Formats: sequence, C-alpha cells, structure tokens
Amino acid sequence: MKTFYGNEYNFSWIDGKKIESDHSSEVINPATGQSIGLVPDGGAKLTLRAIDAAAQALPSWSKLTAGTRAGYLLDWADRVIADKEALAQLLSLEQGKPLDEARGEIEGVAVYIRWYAEEGKRAYGEIIPASRPGQQLMVFREAIGVVGLITPANFPAAILATKVAPALAAGCSFVLKPAEQTPMIAIALLSHLMATQLPAGVANLVTGNPEEIGGTLSADPRVRKISFTGSTEVGKILMRQAADNVKRLTLELGGNAPVVVFPDADLDKAVDGIMGNKFENCGQVCNGINLIYVHEDIHQALVEKLAERIKVLKVAAGSEPGCQVGPMIDPSYLNKVETLVNDAVMKGAKVLAGGHRIVEDGYHVGNFYAPTLLDGVHEEMELTRKEIFGPVAPVLTFTDESVVIERCNNTPYGLAGYVYTRDAARMFRLIAGLEVGNLAVNGTSLANPQTPFGGVKESGIGRVGGRQGLEEYMELKYVALTLE
Ligand code: ADP
Repeated sequence: MKTFYGNEYNFSWIDGKKIESDHSSEVINPATGQSIGLVPDGGAKLTLRAIDAAAQALPSWSKLTAGTRAGYLLDWADRVIADKEALAQLLSLEQGKPLDEARGEIEGVAVYIRWYAEEGKRAYGEIIPASRPGQQLMVFREAIGVVGLITPANFPAAILATKVAPALAAGCSFVLKPAEQTPMIAIALLSHLMATQLPAGVANLVTGNPEEIGGTLSADPRVRKISFTGSTEVGKILMRQAADNVKRLTLELGGNAPVVVFPDADLDKAVDGIMGNKFENCGQVCNGINLIYVHEDIHQALVEKLAERIKVLKVAAGSEPGCQVGPMIDPSYLNKVETLVNDAVMKGAKVLAGGHRIVEDGYHVGNFYAPTLLDGVHEEMELTRKEIFGPVAPVLTFTDESVVIERCNNTPYGLAGYVYTRDAARMFRLIAGLEVGNLAVNGTSLANPQTPFGGVKESGIGRVGGRQGLEEYMELKYVALTLE
C-alpha cells in the first residue's frame, strides 16, 4: 500500500487545467503524524481564477440537456468504481478510517453520483391553472448558477459527491474547497471527473486557507449559492457573509443526536445499532449518537452488553487488517474529546471502558482515543451540550417518556435522533415530539441518496439528498404568459 504521495496531488483544478502552486502545505497521516504529501496552499487569488472559470463555463453547461449532463456523471461514477481500491487506500491513509469503511464510502460516492445523474432528468417544472382566460401560469426550474461547495474532513469523499453530483445534474458550475486535513481524496475524485472530458471550467477545486477561500466565495456576487457541511460556528460565519449579497445557502451543521431506548425495545438490536453508529468513523459523524438515554429498568443490561462490545473493539491505523476504530482526524478533535471526558469524570461519570488517549511508550502515537463507555452521565456535564464527535458513548437514564423527549430537545441542535421501541403508539409520539430533521426508529442508519437529510434549529438549513437535494441547486422562475 502506498504511504507517500509527494507532489502527485500538489495542484488545483481550474478551468480544466491542473494548476501547480508556488506554496504548498503538508497533508498529515493521522495515525502517525507523518506527512503523506503536499497540496497547494491557495487563497483569494486562486479562488478568483476558479470563480472566473466557473462563471465562463456556466451558460453552456446549464443549457445542455439533463441527459447529456447525466452522461458525464455516469462516466465519472464508472471511473470512481474502476479505481475503488486505490481511492479507498488514499482515503483511509489521509482520513484515518478503517479501509473497509473507506471502501464503503467510495462505493457510496458512485451510488450518489448515479442517483443524481438520473434525478437531473426529473427536474420537472409546473403548469398552474390560470386566473384569467387565455393565460398560462408556468414554473420553470433553472440552475442556480455558480456554486461554492465547502466540505468537511469526516466523509471527504461521500460529502463531496452529495454536493457535486446534484450541482452538476442541475446545470451549475462550481468551485470546491475540501477540508485542509483531507484534500487529496477530493483532488483524486475531481481528477476522475475531469477525465470524462467535462467542459473546462465547470468543475474547479481550490485547497488552502479556509477563511480566504470561503471569504472570496462569499463576497463574489457571481457565486449564487454556498453549500457547506461542517461546524455550526463556521456555518454561522458563512451565513453572516452570505447576507451581503443575499446568497443562497445549504448548511449541514453540527448535531447532538440522542438515542432513546425504551424497556420494550429489542435490546440486542439496540446494542447493534448503537455500536454501528457510535463507532463508525471513530465517532466523527455529524448524525452520530451523542447521548444514550436508556430506561432505568433496562439500564444495567444495556450497559453490560455495550461494555462487552466496546472493550474488544480493535483500534489501529485504518490500513491495518481488522481495524475497527482508526485515529481521530485531527489533534484538535482529540483534545476536545479528552476535555469533555475529563469534565464528565470529574463530575461523577463512571468509566466502564476506555476513557483515555492511547499512548505508546510514553509518547503519543497518532490521534488515537480509546473507545469509551461512560455511565452515570447527567446534564451538568459539558458533553451533554456539546457535539463529542469522537468514540465516546455516554449513558443517561430516564423513567418518563415525556421528560426524556424534553431532555432530548433541550439543545440548540436538531440534526438526528434514534428511538428503540416496539410500541407503535409510542413511536408516533416520539416522531412528533423530537425536534430533529432526521429520525430512525429501531435502527441507526440514515444515509441514502433518495432521502432528504438535514437539520432543524442550529443544525442547518436545506437538505442534502433526495429530490429536495437537487432543488437546492435550482431556482424557480414563475412566468405568467398571456396568449391573446
Ligand atoms: P469541523 O469542526 O468538522 O472540522 P469546520 O467547520 O471547521 O468543521 O470545517 C469544515 C470545512 O469548513 C472545512 O473545509 C474547513 O476548511 C472549512 N472552513 C473553516 N473555516 C472556514 C471559514 N471561515 N470560511 C469557509 N470555510 C471554512
């Protein structure tokens, strides 16, 4: 397996060309702290060139038929799948996730691209019954224009696809800025897109300074929309910046997802669901479970089953065979997890598994944190209010259904929620009661290309996925046509 890429990805994609950079930044392997290659350290100048190219390319790209655009997308998906193993290895090395998870993510990239290639053909307008004789009231759908796409480091391939595919299918051109920790997988995926002979300027990618690139995208009136996935803090900055030219936004931000396990639940199913969700991607998932609320009657049983499973999780570099939990992407994420766990322990939480960094020979090796189970958690602890974004499972108990709903809703976030119960009436009370954009009942998996994923409250605006995810890249034009 390749572990050093040198200058292989040390370029930006602008106007159909690879642009080499005068300044570069190192990309770090989170499992070792060592450099795995260089990427350009771009800023405002490069971003402006990319916007110029996207603006030039827009009119002809948006006028193509949806079928022609789908042709490029389907070709892209085929190329991604043909190169799946190499892409998965790069993703795992750069991001840290287990190789099997990386393979799944690359497969997911192709699934999203193919779905939006087809959905672009169904961007139907409307004809509305008129108020006057001789009149036609019509609604056209048009590409919104040049879009800025800003992606995070946790699913750097899948989230890229959930933005690029609908943007292209809708007829938009774009400037993409990947996260500074994971730029190489984005450059690799764009290189496959460019190999489809996509018209120059439709797809552009700039890496480097987030504030400069984001600020330039926000300030330019030609960029009609920004689609961002990342922290609520940065989402708010982009929202303020977007106000100056009333730019459209899709924001997929942080969460504080609860799972509520009732006494009538299938406990083994709940344990499987919690394990699958909580430790995927080392807990760095925006809709990942943050808090486990379990009914007092089954608390002991659930905690024992979870502890048994968590203690044997294999923590290793993503490339190591059998790895189940990799390193955290960034030392800052690791520090946050450590601070939150220490605060909880200081306030009385009991550590039933993990609870510490993984240190070898007295030195920190990579950004590893031991999969952790905390019992006796209560609302005084910081981690009940903050997104943990790491491999830590905090358990809280409850007795009353309406009180637990209130506790779940007592957060500025509203991204995801999970419920385990076999009582149909209770399911509907929870569906109505939980203030979230996405809810899974008796399961913990939510991502599909055909479903609208997104948050309420401070978890975001707009939806990613589904026909709604395509509409995010289109404007409506209403036309009142009088024929005589
Ligand atoms: P996380 O906390 O999940 O790392 P961030 O919100 O910090 O999320 O990062 C998500 C994406 O937002 C990354 O691509 C990052 O470079 C980018 N980003 C960070 N700060 C800004 C900013 N001021 N303007 C635009 N993008 C930004």
